[in-house]
This record gives sequence, C-alpha cells and structure tokens, in this order.
Amino acid sequence: MVCAVIINAENKRIKLCNEIIGLMYGYIQWNSYDTEAGGIILGRENLGNDNLIFEFITKPMKKDIRTKNRFLRKDSEHIEFYKQLYSKHNGVYAYYGEWHTHPEDIPHYSIIDLTNWRKISKEDPKEMQYHIIVGRKQLRIWEMRKKCFMPKLVCEVKWDEINI
Ligand SMILES: [Zn+2]
Repeated sequence: MVCAVIINAENKRIKLCNEIIGLMYGYIQWNSYDTEAGGIILGRENLGNDNLIFEFITKPMKKDIRTKNRFLRKDSEHIEFYKQLYSKHNGVYAYYGEWHTHPEDIPHYSIIDLTNWRKISKEDPKEMQYHIIVGRKQLRIWEMRKKCFMPKLVCEVKWDEINI
C-alpha cells in the first residue's frame, strides 16, 4: 500500500496511508452547518522496527452523535469493524486511537477530548495512543502516553503541503 505522509514522532515514524488521509480530508468542516465526523484509527507495527503504519480508519456511522461542535462515537460498528479486521489478519492490526474533525483552521483538543483521551489511556492495554484532530488548514496528531496526564503534540500535517 502506498503511504502518503511520514511523520517523525520522537524515536519512531508514523506512516499515514493515502486512503485514510483522503477519507479524513473529505470530512473537513468547510461550512458552518457541517457537523463533526470521526472514528477510530487502526494500524500495525512495521516488522523490524518500531515504526507505525496507520492503515484504516472508520467513518461516522448511523448511531454516532454528530453536531457542529461534537462527535460522540456511539455506534458499535466501529469496534465491529476492528474486530473483523483483527480476526481476518490474525491479530496484525491494533487500535491506535481516535480521530475527529473540528470546525477550526488549526485544531486544538477540547476539555471533553482530553477527558476522553485520558479515559482511553487508562483502559487501553497499549502504552501509547495517537489521536488525530482534523482542521480546515491542518491535521494534528497527539500522543497520549500512559501515566502522562497531558497529550503531546507530535505532528502537524498542512493540507496545502500534501497531495490529496
Ligand atoms: Zn474535539
């Protein structure tokens, strides 16, 4: 699979595949009436090194709650998609975090996002999660490490600097 964006996040690289970049781009809230979108990020470790490849995301589903300033992942289909992927590929793919859009050019996480990310950090067996917020001018990725109370911004991808 062709990967579009490679990010250097401290000691590892994260690859974001074309397809998920394109999907997220399609949900940007250009208009004031557009509602937030989101889903989960699924990926795998690159064999031989610590690099991560984010290869799939889920799209908003019927039972999710979507308003102009809020995305609530309520639909069980997100996890269902992950479970199917997991069994189809013998456990190669794992959950890495959440993504959602924001109605702002340069996205910042809200208190609600922070609360949610902290909760996930506690519950997820993995040491780290990566959460993406998609804004109108850029997409940003935060790393949430277990026992660290605050997320760390690891990268910014400017839409006008990549090929969609
Ligand atoms: Zn948010």
